[in-house]
Amino acid sequence: MDLNTIEAVVPTADPADFRDGDAWLAGGTVLFSYGSYAFGPRPLRRLLDLSRAGWPAVTVHDDGLELAATCTIAELYALPGSPAVTGRGWPGLELIRPCCDSFVASFKIWNVSTVGGNICTSLPAGPMTSLCAGLDAVATVIGAGGATRTVPVAELVTGDGTNALAPGELLRSVRIPASALASRVAFRRLSLSNLGRSGVLLIGRLDPRDGLALTVTASTKRPVRLSFPADSPPDAERLAAAVGQSIPAELYHDDQHGLPAWRRDMTGRLAEEIRAELLGERRPDGSVAVSGDFWDGAGRGHAVSAQPSTQRPGASRGAADPSQRKEA
Ligand SMILES: Cc1cc2nc3c(=O)[nH]c(=O)nc-3n(C[C@H](O)[C@H](O)[C@H](O)COP(=O)(O)OP(=O)(O)OC[C@H]3O[C@@H](n4cnc5c(N)ncnc54)[C@H](O)[C@@H]3O)c2cc1C
Repeated sequence: MDLNTIEAVVPTADPADFRDGDAWLAGGTVLFSYGSYAFGPRPLRRLLDLSRAGWPAVTVHDDGLELAATCTIAELYALPGSPAVTGRGWPGLELIRPCCDSFVASFKIWNVSTVGGNICTSLPAGPMTSLCAGLDAVATVIGAGGATRTVPVAELVTGDGTNALAPGELLRSVRIPASALASRVAFRRLSLSNLGRSGVLLIGRLDPRDGLALTVTASTKRPVRLSFPADSPPDAERLAAAVGQSIPAELYHDDQHGLPAWRRDMTGRLAEEIRAELLGERRPDGSVAVSGDFWDGAGRGHAVSAQPSTQRPGASRGAADPSQRKEA
C-alpha cells in the first residue's frame, strides 16, 4: 500500500527528532500494510527511518544476548548454531527458531521485518514478544530527552495492539539474560489452520534455582507469566488452578484466529504438556506429550530447515511445498 500522506522520510534514530504525525520505520511490513490512517487520529506525515541506525543486530555478552530493535527475523533465525553462541551452554536458544517459524510469512517479510517492529506492533500473536517474554528479556527504551528506561518485554505489551511506549519513544534493544538462556525450555504452539497465525503460544522454562516459569501468549491479549518456586513444583491440578486464576475470561483474545473458549481450553492443555515435559513426567506409554505445528509426534523437537519453511513433508499440520504457504 502506498502511504500517500507521507511528506518526508527522515533517516534518524534520535527521539528528539520525533514530532506529531511521525512513525518510526523499521521493516515497514506493518506500516506499509496498514496505511497512513491506522496509527492514530491523524494520518502519518513522516517516517523516521531506522534502517541506517547501524546497530549491530545481535551482540553476545557473557551475561546474555542483546538484540537490536532493528534485528531482522532472518538474522535472528541464523543465530542458533552460529559460532557466536556455540559452546555457550544456552538451551534457551532452542526457542528462537520455533518462534521465528511462528511468524508465518515469506522470506521477503523475514528479511525486513524486525524484532522491535514486532514487539512494538504488539499483536497477541507477536512471536518476538513470545520469545522475549518467555526468556525474561528486558527492553531498553529511549525517550525524547535521550533518557533511557528499561521495562520487561512481558510488561511492555499491554494489550491487543497496545504497549507501554509513550508517543515518540524508541525501542532500542532487548536484552535476554544468560540465566534464562541457560534454562531448559519447552515450546507449544497451535493455530486454527495450516500455516495460520498463532492462536496459542506457550513457552516454559525450568531453572534449578528459579523453578518453573510459564509464559502464555497469542491466546491472551497480552503476555501472562506464571511462576512456581523450585522447591514447590506444581502438579497438574495446581497448574490448572493457577492458569485459571491468572487469566480471566476477558483476557483471552477473540479474533478470526480463534475463539476465546478454544484459546482457553488449548492454553490449559498446552500448559499441562509443558509442565509434564519439563518436570520429566511421562505418559503411561513412556512418551512425553508434544504438540504444535513445528513438533513431530516422537518428541524429537523442532525440525530445522533453511528458512522460510520448516514444515515436514506429509505432516498433518504443515505443507512442505512452499507454494502452499499462506501468509497470515
Ligand atoms: C505476510 C505477513 C505475515 C505476518 N504475520 C505476523 C504474525 O504472525 N505475527 C505478528 O505479530 N505479526 C505478523 N505480521 C505483522 C508484521 O510483519 C510484524 O509484526 C513485523 O514484525 C513488524 O516489524 P517491522 O519491522 O516490519 O515493523 P514496521 O512496519 O516498520 O513498524 C511497525 C510498528 O512498530 C513501530 N516501530 C517499529 N520499530 C520501532 C522501534 N524500534 N521503536 C518504537 N516503535 C517502533 C512503527 O512505528 C509501527 O508503528 C505479518 C505481516 C505480514 C505482511
